[in-house]
Amino acid sequence: MSQPRLTVLAGPTAVGKGTVSTYIRDNYPEVWLSVSATTRAPRPGEENGVHYFFVTTEEFDELVAEGQMLEWAVVHGHNRYGTLRRTVEAAMADGKSVLLEIDLQGARQVKESMPEANFVFLAPPSWDEMVRRLVGRGTETPEEQQQRLETAKLELAAESEFNHTVINDDVQRAAAELVSLMGISPRQR
Ligand code: 5GP
Repeated sequence: MSQPRLTVLAGPTAVGKGTVSTYIRDNYPEVWLSVSATTRAPRPGEENGVHYFFVTTEEFDELVAEGQMLEWAVVHGHNRYGTLRRTVEAAMADGKSVLLEIDLQGARQVKESMPEANFVFLAPPSWDEMVRRLVGRGTETPEEQQQRLETAKLELAAESEFNHTVINDDVQRAAAELVSLMGISPRQR
């Protein structure tokens, strides 16, 4: 059976999805990594069209109204992020192996419209490690830390909605496992 051409990578906050997808962008040119639209401001070093399409809230509204978003969500409180339907469909029609790195809400929307896609959950090596990453900075109040841990518990419970789990114990290894789940043979690097 041939591999589904669309893979969705999601997982809890702070699990390192961004690091894994950056590694894939830099090391696996055979993966077509979707570039999302976002209303958040670019961080230093981020380029429009490479890391994101940086748009205004009005432009984002328009994309949603025109039905151009395959999925979209408000992430971390206020900024909106979405996947552009047209570019993803064109890449799939072109036979590319498409990867979306999106949040859980977005993954659930893609599951509604494309249940045949491949859903991969990126998990932390352990609950303790997750707690360390979430509360480790020591800048949050105990209440805020508790809130983050509650959110993390809910997010971890979503694992059963996915076809596969990849543990992010090491970025290079996790990336290699992910691309092999996409039907691409990982090369020696
Ligand atoms: P950051 O602002 O750190 O680049 O990304 C924040 C979060 O937004 C990450 O959890 C990432 O998975 C999520 N995200 C990025 N692009 C999209 C998208 O197109 N759709 C959805 N639903 N989430 C996204």
